[in-house]
Amino acid sequence: MKTYKIALLKGDGIGPEIVEQAVKVFDKTAEKFGFKVEYDPADIGGIAIDNYGEPLPQITIDKCKAADSVLLGAVGGPKWDTQPAGNRPESGLLKIRSSLGLFANLRPAVIFEPLKKASPIKDEIIGDNLDIMIVRELTGGIYFGQRGRTEENGIPCAYDTEKYSVNEIERIVKVAFDMAMKRNKKLTSVDKANVLESSRLWRETVNRIAKEYPEVEVNHLYVDNCAMQLVRNPGQFDVIVTSNIFGDILSDEASMISGSIGMLASASLSSGKSGLYEPIHGSAPDIAGQNKANPLATILSVAMMLKYSLDEPEAAQAIENAVGKALETYRTPDIYEEGKIKVTCTEMGDKVCSLL
Ligand code: NAD
Repeated sequence: MKTYKIALLKGDGIGPEIVEQAVKVFDKTAEKFGFKVEYDPADIGGIAIDNYGEPLPQITIDKCKAADSVLLGAVGGPKWDTQPAGNRPESGLLKIRSSLGLFANLRPAVIFEPLKKASPIKDEIIGDNLDIMIVRELTGGIYFGQRGRTEENGIPCAYDTEKYSVNEIERIVKVAFDMAMKRNKKLTSVDKANVLESSRLWRETVNRIAKEYPEVEVNHLYVDNCAMQLVRNPGQFDVIVTSNIFGDILSDEASMISGSIGMLASASLSSGKSGLYEPIHGSAPDIAGQNKANPLATILSVAMMLKYSLDEPEAAQAIENAVGKALETYRTPDIYEEGKIKVTCTEMGDKVCSLL
């Protein structure tokens, strides 16, 4: 029987509770689709500071590298807020991304029909089939470029540099084209080519690579226009590819369309098959340990892992369908609305399992 080895990084706050539900769903899916999952737990974030004195010990990196894929809960909490900057739980996240060479961040913005009312966007604007995938470059651009402080004519100044090599652009753009090929074959590249030289190189590169994907319809949008279009007519998008900083902002904007932070999964991919899968929310210390957290973003992260790292698309679809069905009747407190049955984190995991 095919066996997948998964590094399990539960992290802090609600991390252990939500990952426990995701594991339950993963195991049930495995049983149904004829594969096995072996978990290798490892510490990251605050728990790693407690146990090893640092947010990402080498043993965790080694376990992640040895695994087929990584499932992460969330990190951080008030207990570690006084740690020095380089030793905070969140720096474990940045380090794991660079240690595993995770240069592509995938964030779907989808809306489950029963949750349409929770979205701040009007029903008629959302339409019937909102399903956007934002592909964000994760290890280059202005967040990693040269920065500093200087003085000009006695006035203090600061600068940050947006710099991309053509190789960095090519690899993320290819991920996006491959993604578009598996979806509706439409790709929007977002830049600021009317102003930025790095964006002009970005656009040239997209146009060159587009020739290798004649089936994909490509268009370019300036980032300011894209930000507007996302709330004006989100249904026009299939795959969006963009730089680190633009992707950071646009993916948060797009996530609001779904109406709840507890619903959104994400993937970070390297050039190989493996990847790191996690909900987009944090460790929610305000509700940790109360069995109140919404585990669906983490459960949907497992679905993404099955689709993008483990080549089990039918198993992924089964999880997404079960989540959709569960939402018709059951709600954790964050997405509760009248007429539905309020359930705990554990109960939501059980409901998804029973609907698989
Ligand atoms: P957060 O996402 O943890 O919480 C924001 C709000 O959303 C809170 O009210 C929380 O209760 C709620 N929420 C989040 N996830 C939920 C879920 N699954 N179910 C129900 N409600 C949910 O963001 P924050 O409060 O700004 O940060 C808390 C801690 O998490 C901080 O230490 C922060 O640095 C860390 N953080 C970690 C990550 C990560 O691990 N990837 C991401 C963001 C923040």
